[in-house]
Amino acid sequence: MNTYQIDENGYYGEFGGAYVPEILHKCVKDLQETYVKVLESDDFKQEFDELLRDYVGRPSPLYYAKRLSELHGCKIYLKREDLNHTGAHKINNTVGQILLARRMGKTRIIAETGAGQHGVATATVCALMNMKCIVYMGKTDVERQHLNVQRMKMLGATVVPVTSGNMTLKDATNEAIRDWCCNPVDTFYILGTAAGPHPYPDMVARLQSVISEEIRKQLLAQEGRENPDYLFACLGGGSNAAGTVYHYLDNEEVKIVLAEAGGKGVETGETAATIQIGKIGIIHGAKTLVMQDEDGQIEEPYSISAGLDYPGIGPLYPSLVARGRATVYSINDDEALDAAFELTRIEGIIPALESSHALAALKKITFKPDDLVVLTVSGRGDKDIETYVKAMNERNNR
Ligand SMILES: *Cc1c(COP(=O)(O)O)cnc(C)c1O
Repeated sequence: MNTYQIDENGYYGEFGGAYVPEILHKCVKDLQETYVKVLESDDFKQEFDELLRDYVGRPSPLYYAKRLSELHGCKIYLKREDLNHTGAHKINNTVGQILLARRMGKTRIIAETGAGQHGVATATVCALMNMKCIVYMGKTDVERQHLNVQRMKMLGATVVPVTSGNMTLKDATNEAIRDWCCNPVDTFYILGTAAGPHPYPDMVARLQSVISEEIRKQLLAQEGRENPDYLFACLGGGSNAAGTVYHYLDNEEVKIVLAEAGGKGVETGETAATIQIGKIGIIHGAKTLVMQDEDGQIEEPYSISAGLDYPGIGPLYPSLVARGRATVYSINDDEALDAAFELTRIEGIIPALESSHALAALKKITFKPDDLVVLTVSGRGDKDIETYVKAMNERNNR
């Protein structure tokens, strides 16, 4: 069957695979051979579903945003991942991976984090499951995301500031992989997005697919149909987008629109628009598009949103774009800010800066009045208030 899902070798078309050092080979192979079996077992499903319901607070509402709909001339539903425990979709994935880690007999959890959202989601489930937790975070990010560092510490995690490279997410991920190489037997690496070596992209997509599973049921109940005309999500590494589109991938009637971070503009060089300017390369164990210079050196990405400034991208997305299955817009900082202020003022929902990129992409499409749109609000904006207030003040002073 022609499918957009991963193939048996861990590839989406020409992208994906597992390019890991020799020492991790067995570890990654074990994971590849185990994850589907565990994720599809009744015992895992029962525990996962229970935690998603009682701990995370699922199902997250599918909210009909009436005033936003009027503004865009179509019918827009917001999938409210911002209402989850810890404030974003990331917790769906960390709950799932820690249950898998326990079933594989692992006793020590490591994770990477940029803005600190995945670090907090990992530290949270480690507290819940009484597991040792080490979070790698670039020193630059430790300084600018102080609140999340405090949250992780309060939850009992050890936060290790990483001082290599530019001291941001890419460097934290390198360091987490290095730790894993030194401790392959007892350690489980909880990766935060749909990137990295196979099976992570598919495993994370499956764990996040609860989002599209719920959308189908909720749309059927609320609109009498399972399929929207459009799905919208923002694109960092690709986990909330993967969850949003998962059950719709092979259903061509449903159009997929994704938003990556344009930063100050793709042409300025200060950008994180990997789909637009990336070239094929290998980053963190996967063959995908990478922001790199002519010598293959990884370029430092920039976005106002810390959750989107990654120089790579999950391997699913270059494949979807190459096959014409998804459209990806690059959204600049200013457009994301506009969309955030707009949603806040007309719906009373302060979105995460990342999610604001998806909201801004609504303006790129000319809708028909009966078009049905579902947009995933990946997280809440509490963590971004300082940035929002600063932007508001700058605008008022213009
Ligand atoms: C981390 C994060 C993202 C980006 O990550 P994806 O894996 O692309 O989903 C988006 N939104 C929020 C709120 C985040 O915390």
